[in-house]
Amino acid sequence: MTDTKPTTPITLSSPVNNLPGVGKSRAASLEKLGIQSVSDMLKHLPSRYEFLAGESSVSELKADTIGTARGIVAAKRWVSSGRGKGRLEVTLLDDGDTLRLVWFNAAYLQDKFFPGVHLRVTGKVQHFQDYPQMVNPKFETLAYDEVPEPVKSYRRPIYPATEKLASGKIEELITFVLDQLGDEIPDPLPGTLLDHHAMPTLGEAIKLVHRPNMPDDPGVGRRRLAYNELLLLQLGIELKRQYNHDRLQAPELRFSQAKDEHIRQRFGFDLTESQAKVITEIASDLQRDVPMNRLVQGDVGSGKTVIALYGLLMAVADGYQGALMAPTELLAEQHFLSMNKTLEGSSVKIGLLTAGQATAKSVARRELEAQIQAGEIDIIIGTQALVSESVQFNNLALVVVDEQHRFGVLQRAAFRSKMSPQVQEGRIASPHYLVMTATPIPRTLSLTLFGDLDVSTIHGLPPGRKPIITRVVRTYQSDDVYGYIASRVAKGEQVYVVVPAIDEAEEASENPLKSVAAHSKLLQEKYFSDFTVSSMHGRLKSAQRDQIMNQFRAGKVDVLVATTVIEVGVDVPNATMIVIEHAERFGLAQLHQLRGRIGRGTQDVKNLCVLICDPVTDEGIQRVDAIAATNDGFRIAEKDLEIRGMGDFFGTRQHGMPPLRVAKIPDDMDLLQLAKRDAVDMIKADSQLKLQDNQTLRRLLIKQYGDALGLIDVG
Ligand code: ADP
Ligand code: MG
Repeated sequence: MTDTKPTTPITLSSPVNNLPGVGKSRAASLEKLGIQSVSDMLKHLPSRYEFLAGESSVSELKADTIGTARGIVAAKRWVSSGRGKGRLEVTLLDDGDTLRLVWFNAAYLQDKFFPGVHLRVTGKVQHFQDYPQMVNPKFETLAYDEVPEPVKSYRRPIYPATEKLASGKIEELITFVLDQLGDEIPDPLPGTLLDHHAMPTLGEAIKLVHRPNMPDDPGVGRRRLAYNELLLLQLGIELKRQYNHDRLQAPELRFSQAKDEHIRQRFGFDLTESQAKVITEIASDLQRDVPMNRLVQGDVGSGKTVIALYGLLMAVADGYQGALMAPTELLAEQHFLSMNKTLEGSSVKIGLLTAGQATAKSVARRELEAQIQAGEIDIIIGTQALVSESVQFNNLALVVVDEQHRFGVLQRAAFRSKMSPQVQEGRIASPHYLVMTATPIPRTLSLTLFGDLDVSTIHGLPPGRKPIITRVVRTYQSDDVYGYIASRVAKGEQVYVVVPAIDEAEEASENPLKSVAAHSKLLQEKYFSDFTVSSMHGRLKSAQRDQIMNQFRAGKVDVLVATTVIEVGVDVPNATMIVIEHAERFGLAQLHQLRGRIGRGTQDVKNLCVLICDPVTDEGIQRVDAIAATNDGFRIAEKDLEIRGMGDFFGTRQHGMPPLRVAKIPDDMDLLQLAKRDAVDMIKADSQLKLQDNQTLRRLLIKQYGDALGLIDVG
């Protein structure tokens, strides 16, 4: 390594550009691999190893390994194939055994080899016509009677690399780092734990992975590193959970059978068994003074709204406020409308607070906020606007966050600051918290990302639902598709048509995408001239969107051409068909959500989802096939995880969780469970990790998960 850096000692947290030979461009290449610090680098594990067998006699060379041997050149010959091309064949003798060497197109080597020259060669051993042979071996010329140190066997790590940064260079950097750190890699885990699991120390594990001696070494080392990562994550989660348990205080709701019956009467249907079970879980949480922290997952259309409503009414029945936060204005408005309908004639006051419905400074908005603060409004429905600074609640007991995948530790903290602090000394007031998601979370993920939430699952769909039939067709078949759909629209059914672009501007490129503007015009003229075609997208004002959505809901619009604004939550039971144009462009979860817009009624019709696409990429094909193959959101979520990997699973990165580098979910499920159990035990024994043995761990935890898990207030 050429350039010299100021001699700062290398530690695990040193940035990579403290390493010799790492300048701007190399640091950029490393960053592409997710490596910013020395510690990241040590977690960059080889994807495989190349075994170099070490030196042996020719008779001991093994086929298909990379071997090294010495011998005396007995013969050489150049076999020309014209124009300077050809091959050089050399026969090497070692104690009567023959090794054949072949170099292709290397005429220049002819002068190097004469009978009697002593050579050491390294290369892949193959058998050819009864003799061992090496093609294009590396060689070294030795003095006639020289007996050098034998070459030792070596498992060369092969690292995931980039075009600009080869595995060999990464190997060099890691070797440097390992030499510098020596035995100075501190182990955050208490020795007793490692003994118990018979795991190596962190320093040992790192060496086993990067410099293995035995075939089993990398596996043993990797396991420890993966466990390390998972344990830290689980400890962070448990630490936070313990903190919430000890330090936060939520309203203990009083509840009775009479109230329960009263609430249920409001719904126009009987709850399914699964819905009832989830409600029991929630009701029992709400009656404790520890804040509930629960995730309700249920497939699209499984009936989550009613569960939210139940919780909110439980709060209201006991004189408290409840808030429902939706991801879009459209959804907030839909909830507002449907709740008003369900609660028609009751004394429950519902308010709608979105950014669109009233600008933050408007009179109406200020009035609404005053009512909320005075406790004159019982259920507040809104968007993110609910956590804006000017909003203060009177006595908030429950926050429901609908259709949320970006689980909000920070959001929870935001709501806490909106409570009036009327609690016991030393405890902080907090509402109960319920998150609902229609993207079912694979079990493995719920243990990692959502580990700080209790999970309730709604299985199945409400009774009477007709299944959805999914068809994949090519663009050239669109004519048949729309012709058929028009025949059903004529019978009074409604259809969504989803396109990726809003207007023609986006269409103008080489690969024109269908747009709301152009496609709705085309559909109106060509197939639906006798019907009402309307269109909707995210750039419309919310009042306009409302109007269109209400017309569609009321059956005054037959065909709704839209972008993915209708992706989540929209509930129009009479819509029985959906066409998704350019389906290959949408994600798996997104396709499932879009399809979930239909099949919400009990009419005796075939719910039909048509995916129009000409898939170009493998991944596109996989996604469309997966969607066509099943209606089960849980299976789709597992598949999504498989195709995209966890890093990307509905934007976990945005969540701010440091990615798992070594542990592979779901493969390391057993380790994850082990880590979970250990973390629970450790926090039980030392609830704040303040014991001497746990100090290093605690510091590391706050550094790694402080932001993502809000451990800062754990302090
Ligand atoms: P999601 O889980 O996708 O949010 P919704 O809460 O929007 O689903 O419910 C989908 C539809 O099913 C709604 O029209 C709702 O009224 C209806 N529904 C919910 N629960 C039941 C039930 N137990 N019986 C009949 N219909 C139900
Ligand atoms: Mg919903």
